[in-house]
Amino acid sequence: MRITADYHTHTVYSRHNHGKGSIRDNAMAAYKKGLRTVAISDHGPGHYIYGVKRELLPHIRKEIDAINEEMRDKDFRVLLGVEANVISYKGDWDLDDRLIELTDIRAAGFHYGVHMKGLSDTLHFFLLNPLARFIPPLRRYMRRKNTDALIALIQKYPITFLSHPGEKAEVEIDRLAKACAKEDVWLEINASHEQLDIESIKTAMQVAGAKFVINSDAHRPETIGEVEAGIVRAKRAGLPADRIVNAVEQEEVCKSS
Ligand SMILES: [Zn+2]
Ligand SMILES: [Zn+2]
Repeated sequence: MRITADYHTHTVYSRHNHGKGSIRDNAMAAYKKGLRTVAISDHGPGHYIYGVKRELLPHIRKEIDAINEEMRDKDFRVLLGVEANVISYKGDWDLDDRLIELTDIRAAGFHYGVHMKGLSDTLHFFLLNPLARFIPPLRRYMRRKNTDALIALIQKYPITFLSHPGEKAEVEIDRLAKACAKEDVWLEINASHEQLDIESIKTAMQVAGAKFVINSDAHRPETIGEVEAGIVRAKRAGLPADRIVNAVEQEEVCKSS
């Protein structure tokens, strides 16, 4: 199994030196690795440490359009994406209509470096959520709450995939996968994080219509397309390539006798 697109890569536009390469660096690295598509998906502006500056998005759009124009005779595209942040348990995020319009694809997920909308959301995410690992009833409660937030989010906004679902905030993966299948949102198998893990993939793939994507979440050009860890988990779970939007089965190598 191999991937033909990497929809989750960061650049220098993720602030504080979080992403190391320029858009061009990422694009060229992806092209050289034989990918047909790469998305530049820096952290959403609500991330107060790494978030992209809202006012730079139009400039980033132009930079990407220029690269696509240069490479128009190649079978290769750069997409403008963003990795948006969940900022409330009602399913709010840190993108506005303008950013939705500017982007080609949108990922969304829970991240710590955000200001949650209200006191209750702040307490739930930053206090109860980490505590929940040690207290089983609280764990069930938070899983349900985190899942409700993501479902509300995907029902409200045009989301392409959920980034590393289950990382940073545990979820009820079966219920989430059903909602994703209904809303046509992909579940990410993130090669840089542990989620989706093998058990979650196994559960989610039982849901008819649930689709997956394997991404690198590269923060430097060299690791774009490096998704071996994700492929291993997909294979161990028994997930076939036709359930993964950016994967194909490896061509058989013909052995001559
Ligand atoms: Zn992330
Ligand atoms: Zn990321």
